[in-house]
Amino acid sequence: MVSRIIPVDEFDLIIFGGTGDLARRKIIPALFKRFQDEQIPSGSRIIGAARSDMDAEAFREFARDAIVAECKVSHENKDLAEFVEALDYVMIDALGEEGWADLSALLQPGRVRAFYFSVGPSLFDALAERLDRHQMVDAETRIVVEKPFGRDLSSARALNKVLSARFDETQIYRIDHYLGKETVQNLMAVRFGNVLFEPLWNSQFVDHIQITVAETVGVGGRGSYYDKSGAMRDMVQNHLMQLLCLTAMEPPAKFDPDAVRDEKLKVIRALNAVEPHHIIRGQYDASAEDSSFREDVENPQSKTESFIALKCHVQNWRWAGTPFYLRTGKRLEARDSEIIVVFKDAPHSIFGAEAGRHHNELRIQLQPDEGITLKVTIKEPGPGGMRLLDVPLDMSFAETLGPAADTPDAYERLIMDVVRGNQTLFMRNDEVEAAWAWTDPIIQGWESRGDVPKPYDSFSQGPAAADMLMQRDGRTWREIGQ
Ligand code: NAD
Repeated sequence: MVSRIIPVDEFDLIIFGGTGDLARRKIIPALFKRFQDEQIPSGSRIIGAARSDMDAEAFREFARDAIVAECKVSHENKDLAEFVEALDYVMIDALGEEGWADLSALLQPGRVRAFYFSVGPSLFDALAERLDRHQMVDAETRIVVEKPFGRDLSSARALNKVLSARFDETQIYRIDHYLGKETVQNLMAVRFGNVLFEPLWNSQFVDHIQITVAETVGVGGRGSYYDKSGAMRDMVQNHLMQLLCLTAMEPPAKFDPDAVRDEKLKVIRALNAVEPHHIIRGQYDASAEDSSFREDVENPQSKTESFIALKCHVQNWRWAGTPFYLRTGKRLEARDSEIIVVFKDAPHSIFGAEAGRHHNELRIQLQPDEGITLKVTIKEPGPGGMRLLDVPLDMSFAETLGPAADTPDAYERLIMDVVRGNQTLFMRNDEVEAAWAWTDPIIQGWESRGDVPKPYDSFSQGPAAADMLMQRDGRTWREIGQ
């Protein structure tokens, strides 16, 4: 099955922080892939802008190495040689006055101009002010910003204020790369493109919903950042919240940015204030080969969580009584991200008690592979009477759609959406603020109580208390890595 690629118009993309880790691992490789698929026309310009003292040729070399490492192509690749021709570089300190005229001279009037702020949020104000002062902002200008978008409601509001002082909300693209994942968009296609699921998508038929984002990695080199952030700020407030919104939201009237984002916002506003005993925090211990969380963040007293499991409710007509269980953590048994909609048992079993209890489950898997599975109950084959068996109806994308479904990285999709001017998969200012308004009291509660996370074994399922959270309700988590 060949996917249709619609080329975008020629554009200028300026990457502030073009020599950083995000540019190297994600942004530049994503642009190359879109170029290779002929979605990016060769007249487009990609301009790195950073403090690093280098020229355009050195930046091309940097990009070449990044692409060879990430996209599994050789240095001799013909597309690669063509792609790097589109690259340029300007040395700029966001806080300084040098280089802005050079950057301005490189930009072509009359085409989309996207400034990717791949730098820390403390530089957003300086960048916005200088772009404005040097008259680089026009109607076709777009600004892309990354997480973290604030660390609480007041800092998020302050960032929104900085951006809204110079740009219209329709020009601001707040990235949450989970929204760029093919399966996350497929969740909307499955829900709103089929009649099969939506009539059952409510508390009458859904017992509960589990959302898990599990990682095997620890905090790596991000220790000092992570110790001030923790899983709640780093993962729940953004990625898990977005997955929850897409699962729980009402059907928008149309697939249009504000219609979709209005519905997501309503979900966040309907979330209950989570009770402290419905949240489990954890911190990973050392393993034989790996250091503990406290060693990784170089803070022996750290009370920051590397794991969270929580139960919450979307308090509206559709979901009253159906709990949502969210779980995320580092150094867990497997890299495994999924949304599971667990339907209720059939109201009456005509097959008698020995057939056991059975229910359907819709599993939307995001990592490591993307795909959707529906667990259905069938008769166990053979002459042994009416015994029932649960089997998956599998729609693994790699198998079903063939190699053409070589799922594009989220950044490929999202950057092309920036160029096309489609904000559907980006977070709006009020969404981000509402998510912080829900998260803040939870974090403040821990701080005021001096809450200490529970230790858990590295490469395990997380703290035992997270299992208890489910078991108290007569439910179980799906095992991470199964
Ligand atoms: P990094 O430290 O690797 O790179 C920072 C880049 O910014 C470098 O190119 C550096 O030269 C440039 N820079 C720093 N100060 C500057 C200044 N005053 N003027 C001009 N350029 C300056 O950081 P990163 O990992 O690439 O992250 C960039 C942003 O993206 C951060 O806000 C980070 O939180 C966010 N982010 C990163 C990742 C990731 O996987 N790396 C993921 C999500 C979000």
